[in-house]
Amino acid sequence: MELRVLSLYPDQMNIYADRGNILFLQRRCEWRGIGFVHDGAGPGEPVDPGTHDLFYIGGGQDRDQRAVAADMVASKQEAIAAAADDGAVLLAVCGGYQLLGHSYQLGEEKLPGLGIADLETVREPGARLIGNIAIEADLGSGPKLIAGFENHGGRTYLGPGARPLGKVVSGHGNNDRDGLEGVRRDNVIGTYLHGPLLPKNAWLADHLIALALERRYGTRPELEPLPDELEAAAHDSARRAAQS
Ligand code: GLN
Repeated sequence: MELRVLSLYPDQMNIYADRGNILFLQRRCEWRGIGFVHDGAGPGEPVDPGTHDLFYIGGGQDRDQRAVAADMVASKQEAIAAAADDGAVLLAVCGGYQLLGHSYQLGEEKLPGLGIADLETVREPGARLIGNIAIEADLGSGPKLIAGFENHGGRTYLGPGARPLGKVVSGHGNNDRDGLEGVRRDNVIGTYLHGPLLPKNAWLADHLIALALERRYGTRPELEPLPDELEAAAHDSARRAAQS
């Protein structure tokens, strides 16, 4: 078996070293003898919906999003939407998450999004939403905690066609008002949780690996357990930081 990963705009969308999540996926595959292929698609580069099973887009400042939004819609929207409809995994973090929606409104300016999740983001007046965060999410095996760190000025509002990734246990979440965090549709996950999201939440990394392998090979594999003492310590520490 082989996990095939495509990073979207790896050079532009990578604040807080979000690409460390890819390294974590790679290691967890290698430790289990699962092959790992990682490619990138930058500005103007086309995407084939069937070549990769896990798509990833990290966070970016407003200026990074400005640089990629129109290009993403022009050169990649159709293929990413087709992949998402066909069960591909897409993990989108912060600025990448905002670009999954219909648009990101920044004052007079409106950046286009992929429109593959029913949500909108608005840069409202008010402080940035920064800090440690914990959310409770049920991805099919009962409610579990995802712990991490958020830092965003944009406020995201889900439309009627979207369901959240989870409920905020502690922190701000999508907009600091409705108690919701992230989005989930099919195997698409958007979240404001940054940086080492997957190393702090190893169960989530394994869940994404299994879903992506299921798309390619037809059945969901039982992933061999790994000695996760360090990962458990990282998770506990992130939970403590978020006081949850
Ligand atoms: N530019 C976006 C915001 O501030 C996302 C920032 C980020 O990815 N941290 O809302």
